[in-house]
Amino acid sequence: MTKGRSDKILSLLYGYYGDTVPDLNFRNIYELTISVVLSAQTTDKQVNGVTKQLFEKYPDFRSLSEADYSEVEKIVKSTGFFRTKTKNIIALSRMVFSKFGGELPDNMESLIELPGVGRKSANVIISIGYDKPGLAVDTHVSRIANRLGYSSSKSPDVIEKDLCSIINPSDWKKTHLLFIKHGRIICKARHPECGICPVSKQCNYYKENTAI
Ligand code: SF4
Repeated sequence: MTKGRSDKILSLLYGYYGDTVPDLNFRNIYELTISVVLSAQTTDKQVNGVTKQLFEKYPDFRSLSEADYSEVEKIVKSTGFFRTKTKNIIALSRMVFSKFGGELPDNMESLIELPGVGRKSANVIISIGYDKPGLAVDTHVSRIANRLGYSSSKSPDVIEKDLCSIINPSDWKKTHLLFIKHGRIICKARHPECGICPVSKQCNYYKENTAI
């Protein structure tokens, strides 16, 4: 992948999808963080289906840190892995006070200390919550980075490094959001709709699969 080709891809995707926003519903950094932890192994729609009630009852880290486990489990049950998720979001809320003085940290090193927060979630919090450079690599971003030729690795950490080595930090958030949108709408896992794809001319997968 060259810088020029990467710029072309981002420009084409942006031209096609325009400004993109996350599908999770949140109003502040607390709600984003809890939503991101709950989104593991499920869809944003499922998460949005429980967070209204969750945030009405527990509107901040303080109230969630003092919550009753069984009450939270009941609310988040439909997101799957609800026992682990409940433990994580309560423990995370407690740690915000016990270790970080009541403020959610804004850097990778500290964020990944929080229960339920790995590099991907930390990058979402950094880029979308704090508007600082971070490129979160989820299943859509991985697949599209592989198909377009940004990375040949299957490891999200390596894919993140490969993407970040060629894309300007100011475009990391946009790249994450555009790749997710593209992955959901056109470049689907099983049946990518290459015939209507705005970046097919730049795509390794397309070249390989249409070559005779
Ligand atoms: S050409 Fe096909 S595989 Fe390549 S990015 Fe577009 S939809 Fe995905």
